[in-house]
Amino acid sequence: MTTNNKRIVVLGGGESGAGAAVLAKVKGMDVWLSDMGSIAPKYKELLNRYHIAWEEGQHTEEKVLQAHEIIKSPGIPSSVPILQKAAAKHIPIISEIEFAGRYTDAKMVCITGSNGKTTTTMLTYHILSKAGLNVGLAGNVGNSLALQVATEHHDVYVIELSSFQLDNMYQFKANVAVLLNITPDHLDRYDFKMENYAAAKFRIMQNQDANDTFIYWQGDPIIDAQLKHIHTEARLLPFDATTDESLAAYVDADNMVNFNIDGHQWQIPRAELAIKGLHNVYNSMAAGLSASCLHIKQDVIRRALADFEAVEHRLEFVRTVNGVTYINDSKATNVNACYYALESMTTPVVLILGGKDKGNDYTELLDFVSTKVRAIVCLGADNSKILQFFNEKVPQIADTHSMKECLAKCEEWAQKGDTVLLSPCCASFDLFRNMEDRGEQFKNGVNAIAE
Ligand code: ADP
Repeated sequence: MTTNNKRIVVLGGGESGAGAAVLAKVKGMDVWLSDMGSIAPKYKELLNRYHIAWEEGQHTEEKVLQAHEIIKSPGIPSSVPILQKAAAKHIPIISEIEFAGRYTDAKMVCITGSNGKTTTTMLTYHILSKAGLNVGLAGNVGNSLALQVATEHHDVYVIELSSFQLDNMYQFKANVAVLLNITPDHLDRYDFKMENYAAAKFRIMQNQDANDTFIYWQGDPIIDAQLKHIHTEARLLPFDATTDESLAAYVDADNMVNFNIDGHQWQIPRAELAIKGLHNVYNSMAAGLSASCLHIKQDVIRRALADFEAVEHRLEFVRTVNGVTYINDSKATNVNACYYALESMTTPVVLILGGKDKGNDYTELLDFVSTKVRAIVCLGADNSKILQFFNEKVPQIADTHSMKECLAKCEEWAQKGDTVLLSPCCASFDLFRNMEDRGEQFKNGVNAIAE
């Protein structure tokens, strides 16, 4: 079959689907896009501009099943009936990243993990841009890889990959792969089996050979266990915040972050890293190592690690009002992210928890809650699980159902010198449009207190 008569069906008309459709069209394929929900106006406009046919509100089965290949958006689970039927007909189902990877020979720096992907991706992109590389930013952040491959040219891409994207990747190869951590998340999409979720994350290193690099957090027990069963030719660069000089990046007793790669050694004081908290030491190490693999000079990396601006909604300082510091960590939608937020706190905390619970176990937080948390203010449609779990484990706990009510309670309970931390451990859809909306409402509410 030539490219021209290859029939591509794209399922899902969001950023990745619309981008994949444009790339297929630019490459001369016969492409059609179908979305079960509604397609946002900006993507309709993009599809129309490229004369790509589309439908919304349904998947017309006979048309989908005529595909030679299906490109599936990461949000659609493989278990939906239309994909089951396609699989039964042996129609290949691939991700947008897999598809785009066929049409570029740019170097690929790919970043995955349960937490820290966006931060590490943006930080790596910041270093490479500062070094003057012609670099594209793709994956869950920015424009889709496919759209960039179709319409721009970059020598290097930094790509944030979720496990859902990795699920349908087969031939794609990461020149530099980063695996930050694996903690329970999205288990509903993996038959509630941690090993299935871990296996999806490890797909980031499939196809790597001796010219490629795998960067990972050595302190993660799940990564450590899984690596023992994997044979790879890739160069391994482990990092951890311990004094272990055999690692590619480590922290020594003087709190210097040390990089040790290909016989080159250099350091940056931990206090100089722009983003704070232990988790951001890991993220900074991963980004610094990735940049080193692309031969970026130490000085450039050091400066970029020191002047990076934190990403919105991730431990974002909002302002100090009446001596109380407000921090927006709305993106903390699982327990582990909140754990690291609390780890980084140096004052007593009024902690805002709640939202749509994904089967959370809050035990991991207990040590920090008993030593750092003055009060918990629950913010969700139904807070009963959190109220029950933390009852009598904190001096004060409140049940609130709107940002206004929640902030009024925080203002009442926080004392001068405290931090009010929104790091809710839960998704936001019960009361908010999304985590950005929750973060914005928090920031607007804090600004209103100040006025
Ligand atoms: P992701 O893209 O993987 O969701 P983000 O960078 O958006 O990651 O951060 C999500 C949440 O996790 C934020 O609350 C952030 O403070 C926290 N976080 C960031 N890096 C890490 C890490 N390495 N380990 C644990 N939590 C982290």
